[in-house]
Order: sequence, then C-alpha cells, then structure tokens
Amino acid sequence: MYISNMQHFLDEQGNIPKEMPKEARELASFFALVIDTTTKFNPKRLSATNIRCFEKGCPGTTRVEILHPNEEIHWMCSRCENEGKISQWQGTKWDNGVSK
Ligand SMILES: [Zn+2]
Repeated sequence: MYISNMQHFLDEQGNIPKEMPKEARELASFFALVIDTTTKFNPKRLSATNIRCFEKGCPGTTRVEILHPNEEIHWMCSRCENEGKISQWQGTKWDNGVSK
C-alpha cells in the first residue's frame, strides 16, 4: 500500500522535479495521472480508468475513487495487489476542480 502526500513529490512551482530519481519520478507521474483522471469525474465508488498499472508485467488497469470526508484518492489495480492513497492533491496542476 502506497500512502502518498502529493506535495512531497513537487517543487515550489508545483512541478515534478526533473532531477528526481527515475523511480520516484515515475511514481509521481503515475500519481499525477491518477489525480488528473479522478478529478475529471469525482467517483464515489471504485471506478475503472484506462491508467495502466505500473507493476512490471501486470496487465491490469487502475480503479479509482475519492474517499470522504478527507478526499483522499484511493487507487487500486484491477489485477494485482498494487494499491494506494494520495492526499494533499488539492490545488495541484492536475486537480480538475473537484475541490475548487
Ligand atoms: Zn497491477
């Protein structure tokens, strides 16, 4: 289970720093995609997306939901045990307005 605070992946301008280690950068990019997709439709129950699981060799896609009342984004692979929660995503450049 990945428990992630999105702010920890961003620089002062709200970008994913280019000098970040590759693995952390890939993870941050995945979280950004999850935030972008989730905040487009504000799912209250686990819902399918076309975001590919980042686990090597896993053919699964990512399911997402917004938990209430704390608005954490819960994401979960449809095939493997890859799963996590993202907090502090509100106001990032991938926030499409659920919290605005
Ligand atoms: Zn997976």
